Amino acid sequence: MGENTRMTSVAQARDWVLAAKRIVVLTGAGISTDSGIPDFRGPNGVWTRNPAAEKASTLQYYLADPEVRRAAWRNRLRAPVFAAEPNDGHRAIFELDQRGQLLAVVTQNIDGLHQKAGHDPRDVIEVHGTALWARCWNCSDRRPIIELLDRVRAGEDDPPCAVCGGIVKTDTILFGQDLVPQVIAAAMMAADHSDLVIATGTSLSVFPAANVVPRAKAVGARVVIVNGQPTKMDRFADALLLGPLSELLPALCESRLDG
Ligand SMILES: [Zn+2]
Repeated sequence: MGENTRMTSVAQARDWVLAAKRIVVLTGAGISTDSGIPDFRGPNGVWTRNPAAEKASTLQYYLADPEVRRAAWRNRLRAPVFAAEPNDGHRAIFELDQRGQLLAVVTQNIDGLHQKAGHDPRDVIEVHGTALWARCWNCSDRRPIIELLDRVRAGEDDPPCAVCGGIVKTDTILFGQDLVPQVIAAAMMAADHSDLVIATGTSLSVFPAANVVPRAKAVGARVVIVNGQPTKMDRFADALLLGPLSELLPALCESRLDG
């Protein structure tokens, strides 16, 4: 019966998605695990296996300790994020955009995989920043991370800013670092103008990003949660789809019939 109930709700949710005009998709780490990017706190998570990596993700340590930065740059050289490719989940979400139904993707991920799947970068609101760009902590000079990685490969173990000599980090939001108010405002505005929200690959326990769901609900949008495990906001869901995202998202978003 459980399987049957799930399939019934996929069909119902799919009808809602096909009828929606202003969809906002909120994504978290769970959508990228099938692209080979581990999440942070899961059983195979980055921090579970390597607590030192959590230090590199804390602003104060990163700025204060050159050894933390050198280790961070060494890790970036082999980080899966830079070579990862979008999976069927990312591609299913892009189909909503191609059909003209997508208002925005709000993502907690820093992997750039929505853009690689085809989205205009202006339609992807990265609430925790991006690992594909580097930014100087001192002068805010911003350039592709690949330029910095090339310098590390050439022998600089903690490459300083080419403009001012300051400390360079990925353009991500570290622990202890403020979110960017304009980015959060854009995410909330998208939620306020949505008629349907798909929240996927996120436990909906990280704020303010998770507020997209109650904000959308408050303006009457339907809420479809697609996740591998229960979330903190299942009570808001009009449809709750639990299972593998690479299967559920195409079933939910793609307009062509199977077969
Ligand atoms: Zn600088």
